[in-house]
Amino acid sequence: MDFEYSPRTRELMRRVDDFMQTHIFPAEAEYEEFVQDPARRWIVPPMVEGLKARAREAGLWNLFLPHEYQPWSPGLTNLEYAPLAELMGRVDWASTIFNCGAPDTGNMEVLARYGNAEQQAQWLTPLLEGRIRSAFLMTEPAVASSDATNIECSIVRDGDDYVVTGRKWWSSNIYHPECEILIVMGKTSFDGPKHSQQSMILVPRRAPGVRLVRPLKVFGEVHSPSGHGEVALEGVRVPASNLLLGEGRGFEIAQGRLGPGRIHHCMRLIGAAQRALELMCRRADSRVAFGRKLSEQGSLREAIARSRCEIEQARLLTLAAADKMDREGNRGAADLISMIKIVAPRMCQDVCDRAMQAHGGMGLCQDTPIPAAFGYGRFVRLADGPDEVHMAQLAKWTIARALKGSISG
Ligand SMILES: Cc1cc2nc3c(=O)[nH]c(=O)nc-3n(C[C@H](O)[C@H](O)[C@H](O)COP(=O)(O)OP(=O)(O)OC[C@H]3O[C@@H](n4cnc5c(N)ncnc54)[C@H](O)[C@@H]3O)c2cc1C
Repeated sequence: MDFEYSPRTRELMRRVDDFMQTHIFPAEAEYEEFVQDPARRWIVPPMVEGLKARAREAGLWNLFLPHEYQPWSPGLTNLEYAPLAELMGRVDWASTIFNCGAPDTGNMEVLARYGNAEQQAQWLTPLLEGRIRSAFLMTEPAVASSDATNIECSIVRDGDDYVVTGRKWWSSNIYHPECEILIVMGKTSFDGPKHSQQSMILVPRRAPGVRLVRPLKVFGEVHSPSGHGEVALEGVRVPASNLLLGEGRGFEIAQGRLGPGRIHHCMRLIGAAQRALELMCRRADSRVAFGRKLSEQGSLREAIARSRCEIEQARLLTLAAADKMDREGNRGAADLISMIKIVAPRMCQDVCDRAMQAHGGMGLCQDTPIPAAFGYGRFVRLADGPDEVHMAQLAKWTIARALKGSISG
């Protein structure tokens, strides 16, 4: 494994970093003030479109989409994209400015990989151009959705249409005013092999029968302008041609989607944790308690050293996973993707916890981005599969490999 950044990656890192310094960090306070105002909920802050246009002009657009997706991809590998996503992750909304935000990236990859030409023209093109947004509706309030075979939403064929009926929740992006397309996972069959009952279908956000029930808050935050929603699908009728890939192929698509989505979260979490560490160092150096700078206190030094070790460990594991995805595909890298999905969110949460403590009372209020980064780490411990599910799967693979003789590699 060679993790030396290539000249192209280094050049892109410099450009993404410049963009962050010139355009994103200076806009951070104004953005936050706007999205925290309850009167402006679900309204996109005015600076966003201008920033997106600048990122696109600068060629820093859709960098997440790996090189095999021609003609849409800007040509990077997962390994090359990793440090760029990390830089974007330093501000929680920045990746959307580069059209690299979740859940759109996962949805675009689904459409690029599994969509037909018509579906791609209708939905992938405007998504890649950043003109619309999307949501992914798998999780349901009534069943343990970490086991996707439990999903109850029905997709029933009726003449030239399918009729979709069910209740979803935690549908990220659903409140975004530009959200126009939903990828819905449901069942086209309630018997037969349990991994062949599910299908995925494209549902226009404004189709009759799509009803937003309520926004869900994460630690009291609605995450405007995107939000996470509970959604009722009340006999939503869509053309049969909206089905992705074919009946019974939903599980296969879900597996293909979650690999890249998971690692992108991990890359951003490393950036969020790195920023928290830098803030912790500055605070520790500028604050004096009991006659000494905090940075001279042993416990603070330990917190800083431990955080640096954990961030670097997670970064290397992420690069190893990205490298394996490039060499062996998402399925071949599933073990390393699970490993980093277990490690990175917890790491971010732990680093942010220490950084909050080092800031004293300031660490828990809106004056730093650390509580938001902590919340991000915490929610990714559930989103795209809870820790325990990844551990169960990883343990299963590990035992199987050990029984065959070797775990390494
Ligand atoms: C902020 C946020 C955003 C999200 N965005 C989306 C989205 O856009 N689209 C979407 O479809 N979903 C989304 N989710 C939902 C997320 O993917 C689910 O919450 C997750 O998959 C768990 O499903 P569940 O909530 O039904 O928990 P359950 O399946 O009920 O599981 C509850 C708990 O049981 C334990 N558990 C489960 N299985 C095992 C096991 N095998 N061994 C040991 N313990 C186990 C785990 O601790 C788990 O957390 C989001 C969630 C959050 C918090």
